[in-house]
Amino acid sequence: MLEFLGLAAVAIVVFLVMEGVAWAAHKYIMHGFGWGWHKSHHEETEGLFEKNDLYAVVFSVLAIALFAIGSNGYPLVLAVAVGITLYGVFYFVVHDGLVHQRWPFRQIPHKGYAKRLVQAHRLHHAVEGKAGCVSFGFLYAPPVEELSAELRRRGTVAAERQAQKSDPSEPRPSVS
Ligand SMILES: [Zn+2]
Ligand SMILES: [Zn+2]
Repeated sequence: MLEFLGLAAVAIVVFLVMEGVAWAAHKYIMHGFGWGWHKSHHEETEGLFEKNDLYAVVFSVLAIALFAIGSNGYPLVLAVAVGITLYGVFYFVVHDGLVHQRWPFRQIPHKGYAKRLVQAHRLHHAVEGKAGCVSFGFLYAPPVEELSAELRRRGTVAAERQAQKSDPSEPRPSVS
């Protein structure tokens, strides 16, 4: 029993640590050298899937490998795999579900923590392109007012609006 509780604690810690991993990967890999895959997520895409989904595939393969190793007599590795998978499920529900509505039912949170997460990620998408974005996390998000103030301070959204106005030959979707 004690061993089980210890392993459950490990899974929870891994779940929380994954937020840091996801934040860093999103900020430094996906908006860095990995932009080639992530770009598709910041543009309008047709069809059910986008190139960015390959990141989910990479994390899934990693989790499956850890499950395979763990079930051969390494409960600690199994606990790590469970933690990563729980984070994946959470990420899917919040990011792909609540924010981007990639599921067949409409469910938009209007209050509390879930609303804050959704609004914070919408602000992540308020900036076009890979530079000057805010809010890279998914489990924790700073207050929306702070993020808006940060965007105003950087002036990226305003500059993009200005660019759209001055170049009417190239219609672009409006920043909302
Ligand atoms: Zn992004
Ligand atoms: Zn997104």
